[in-house]
Amino acid sequence: MDVKALHELQSIDTAIDQSRHAQATLPERVRHDDARARLASLRAKIGDVRREQSAFESELAAIERRAAELGNHKSRLEKQLKTVIAPREAEALQHEMTAIDVERGEGDDRGLELLESSARADADLSELMVRESEALTLEADAARQLEAALIASRAILEDLERQRMDMVSRIAPSDVRDYERLRASHGGVAVAEIRHGVCGGCHMDISPSELDAIKRLSVDAVAECPNCSRLLLR
Ligand SMILES: [Zn+2]
Repeated sequence: MDVKALHELQSIDTAIDQSRHAQATLPERVRHDDARARLASLRAKIGDVRREQSAFESELAAIERRAAELGNHKSRLEKQLKTVIAPREAEALQHEMTAIDVERGEGDDRGLELLESSARADADLSELMVRESEALTLEADAARQLEAALIASRAILEDLERQRMDMVSRIAPSDVRDYERLRASHGGVAVAEIRHGVCGGCHMDISPSELDAIKRLSVDAVAECPNCSRLLLR
């Protein structure tokens, strides 16, 4: 078993893992998500203002219809008043006409309020549309930057995958399988280095006698950590 080659393979695999992680957590992706969220929120606000405007318009139209009805009704009453002789009947008609005037007055006031609100909504809408157009530009920029970052990141990953294939082709397939199994079950570290008498995988001390035994192993023998059983680089 070529532990040194497996250690090199592990360096490539670690770089691949890091590169995949970097790709999944690209700052460009975060910026693009933010830009999209801003755009969506502006569009939601624009939708709200448009719905508000259409509610103003329908209410105004209803007020206008009612005003026309009241106008017709009042003209009829005025005609009727000319033909009435009994004072009590005339008084009742006057009373009804006054009520019509009051209702029309209220309608006019509400109409003015609605026109003011509608003008404010128009102003809000223009401002929101400007902001939407800016947000759209920013979103497009962010999308382009994300795409460029993804292309660069994919190129790095492809290069690493090529290096891996090249490395794997130089190692016995059964050793690669053992390495992969060990790496999967040992937190990504199948081959550890001994540093100052400590296993680089489990960070436990390897006793001097165990170190000595490892040193005296034949060249083609494989050393394993007595604590975590990772392969040890000699
Ligand atoms: Zn260990």
